[in-house]
Amino acid sequence: MLAVKTARENFAGAGIPRPLAPAAVQAAFHKAAAYFGLELDLVPVDAHGRAGGQAMAAAMGPDTALAVISAPSYPHAVLDPVAEVAAAAAAAGFDCHVDACIGGLVLPFWPGLPDGDLRVPGVTSISADLHKYGYAPKATSVLLTRGRQRQRGQYFATTSWPGCPVVNPGLLGSTSAGPLAAAWAIINLLGHDGFASLAASCHGSTTALLHAVDGIEGLRTVGTPTGPLFAVAVDPGAPAGRRVDPHHWADALRRHGFIAQLQPAFTQPDGPVLARTTHLTITPVTESRLDELTGAMGRAAQEVRGVPGIDPGALLQSLDVRTSTLLHDAAGRSGDPDAALLILSALGLSGGALPQAMAPVLALVEALSGPVANWLLTELLARLVEPLPESV
Ligand SMILES: *Cc1c(COP(=O)(O)O)cnc(C)c1O
Repeated sequence: MLAVKTARENFAGAGIPRPLAPAAVQAAFHKAAAYFGLELDLVPVDAHGRAGGQAMAAAMGPDTALAVISAPSYPHAVLDPVAEVAAAAAAAGFDCHVDACIGGLVLPFWPGLPDGDLRVPGVTSISADLHKYGYAPKATSVLLTRGRQRQRGQYFATTSWPGCPVVNPGLLGSTSAGPLAAAWAIINLLGHDGFASLAASCHGSTTALLHAVDGIEGLRTVGTPTGPLFAVAVDPGAPAGRRVDPHHWADALRRHGFIAQLQPAFTQPDGPVLARTTHLTITPVTESRLDELTGAMGRAAQEVRGVPGIDPGALLQSLDVRTSTLLHDAAGRSGDPDAALLILSALGLSGGALPQAMAPVLALVEALSGPVANWLLTELLARLVEPLPESV
């Protein structure tokens, strides 16, 4: 968010500044654009989630505020073409931000990768989350900028009130130094060698798990992931009766005690549809239960092999008339919490907890338009933390 804010402060082009990013860029950039009143310019990715450097360069225009690339991307662990995009951005006079939130503290210890940081000409900022592979408590991240002047764009200062002058270096006002102190202590404790050996553990586990996926009939890894994360999709080359739907697989895996993340199929306006996937993030902890996990992955696949994935269209068709009508109306006027409750109840999602099987929820996300899905998900989550009517 601060990288985007900085780009907005420094924007000297014409029109509404637009951060430019591959469509697989992390959701935080959608959030930043929404918070700061900007429009995100998304360049389609290929079916493996890969961004094209040339397509990114071609999309740069007078309203471009910032080119964003990922090292790696979250959904499919794609290492974007950092050098190519940074060079194109520099040539056009734009800043280039590398989102290394997930990779920033682990890819430097990964074998055989090109530089993806401020050593690359044209890269003007890079973010890395200390609370991910820095092993620190949540809410500690770093944003490095090329030159101190650029960092000034992150600040907010005001004297337009009767209280003391306010100068905030980041988004928060009151800020806790607790997680920061913990991050400092952990980094000092681990040191370079500590980080290297934890990365080696992640690398070993990831390699073993990718190998395990290769051996599971009906599933495949998406693309060529870089780093300790990857996405798994159905293998369209397998006969229909032998395919494994990744979402049924994730639900089965959960019954074996492992929680993987379900990612919906994603339709791009002018690019290929990205298949639904299940996402795994590997940490040093994985090593201690690697055999158990590979065993569970194989057994979970056995349990759901041949069970067709939930068809989003058919799911909508199966709803009763009242619910369909409510959903249809909601497309025009979301915001009515009573309508949301009726819809969620009809879908079996008003029980005060998230359902055990997430595949139907993700199919629903695939079936609904973005705004309706976002509204219902907000209602679903908000209701989980609200007192139940009985107890009011
Ligand atoms: C975690 C992450 C972010 C930041 O996400 P938050 O929800 O703000 O923590 C950004 N980019 C990538 C690639 C990430 O993995």
